Amino acid sequence: MLCTLCGRYDAVYGRSYSGENLCGRCFCKTVEERVRKTVAKYEMLGPKDKIMIAVSGGKDSVTLLYILAKIEKIFPDVHLCAGTVDEGIQHYRDEALKIAKKNCQKLGIEHVVTSFKELFGYTMDEIVKLTQERGKTGLLPCSYCGVLRRKAINTMAREAGVDKLVVAHSLDDETQTMLLNIIHGDPMRIARSKPVLDVIHPNFVQRVKPLCMVPEKEVVLYAYLKGIEFQSITCPYAQTALRNDIRNMLTQMEYKHAGTLFTVFRSMERIRPALEAATKKVKLQNCRTCGEPTVGNLCRACQMLQELGIQ
Ligand code: SF4
Ligand code: ZN
Ligand code: ZN
Repeated sequence: MLCTLCGRYDAVYGRSYSGENLCGRCFCKTVEERVRKTVAKYEMLGPKDKIMIAVSGGKDSVTLLYILAKIEKIFPDVHLCAGTVDEGIQHYRDEALKIAKKNCQKLGIEHVVTSFKELFGYTMDEIVKLTQERGKTGLLPCSYCGVLRRKAINTMAREAGVDKLVVAHSLDDETQTMLLNIIHGDPMRIARSKPVLDVIHPNFVQRVKPLCMVPEKEVVLYAYLKGIEFQSITCPYAQTALRNDIRNMLTQMEYKHAGTLFTVFRSMERIRPALEAATKKVKLQNCRTCGEPTVGNLCRACQMLQELGIQ
């Protein structure tokens, strides 16, 4: 079957939600175009912005790095750099870090690395060991990792003096998060989780999500067609948590009813203004221990480290 768009080459991908059959070249162009349009629609980047992309070494972040490097060429005054947080997970993050470095070198993009060890004094492996020694803390490794990484990425971006921090959340990530918020009984979070996050404190670097309209399977296909190297092994601490069940459910729904992911995403866009209007603006202050912005006196990261007796 020939490509719906160019009519010259054989189609390699059937985009069920649009009915198009696309050759590799046209497919990649449409993905790049989708990212460009998302950036323009949500006014994610300014023409003179210094931007940092958080690169883990996984498929989403490395693919977005390639697409942004292309977009950067159209805007000569934009400065793009990459940042990786090394959580200190042996046989996992060390490998991902090498892949992230290699891709940045290939593209000639400056790459900054920070680590849990450097920022908090402990690697993720050491934190997991501590939680096991101390018995049940009620928290799983991903809870510690998520909170500490968010803090580390923000610190890294702020210290690099960038205007925007790009995170590679795909359409799948965004829709899963929305449903997770509902299942966790915290629907008001949908108001805060936007393609461009509000800057609610000067110490927060604004986060933008240019990949939020691209389904994960298209990210993987793009990487495969472009021969992009990414890490495919899973973290040893990854849980078969609720998110996985939601992912499986949405994948099945998308398979049976093409376009479901986009419908969920658009519903989220439609209800967000009402949720925002109903949400009280949170007032932030500086954490009494580390100075980072937080709702109470102590930020969640410092709370966790203190509970573990390592701060
Ligand atoms: Fe961290 Fe959990 Fe992701 Fe592993 S799976 S990198 S522990 S958040
Ligand atoms: Zn084509
Ligand atoms: Zn703190």
